[in-house]
Order: sequence, then structure tokens, then C-alpha cells
Amino acid sequence: MTKTDPEPCLTCGEIFSVKHIICFCREFNDTRTKLKLADNLQEALGPNPDNTQKIFTFLKLTKLYNLI
Ligand SMILES: [Zn+2]
Repeated sequence: MTKTDPEPCLTCGEIFSVKHIICFCREFNDTRTKLKLADNLQEALGPNPDNTQKIFTFLKLTKLYNLI
């Protein structure tokens, strides 16, 4: 099974990855700020349950939940 290259982000033109969405994507700036997400992936996805909750909320708000 071959995987196609990842689609670029329609907003930024960068590679559409989890890291891009959580840390960099301009489209989700508002949501990211609202949730006070950590701006580095390691911290945002870290073992802190608080952060995990924020990520889930972020994914639901951005409707990306079903894509992952
Ligand atoms: Zn983007």
C-alpha cells in the first residue's frame, strides 16, 4: 500500500501535518489562543492531562477530530 504525499495546507501552503495544525497553522490561530495551547508540539502533546484535554478540545473545535 502506497501513501500519497501529504496535501499542503490550503491556508498556509505548508505541509499539512499534526504539528502544523497544532503549532503553526494560521487558520487555527484563534482557537489556539483561546485554548492557550502550548506552542511547541512536545509540550502540547505532553503527558500533562490538562494539555491532553486542550488538544482534544482543539481537535473538536477545528473539526479535525475525525481526520486523525
Ligand atoms: Zn496551515
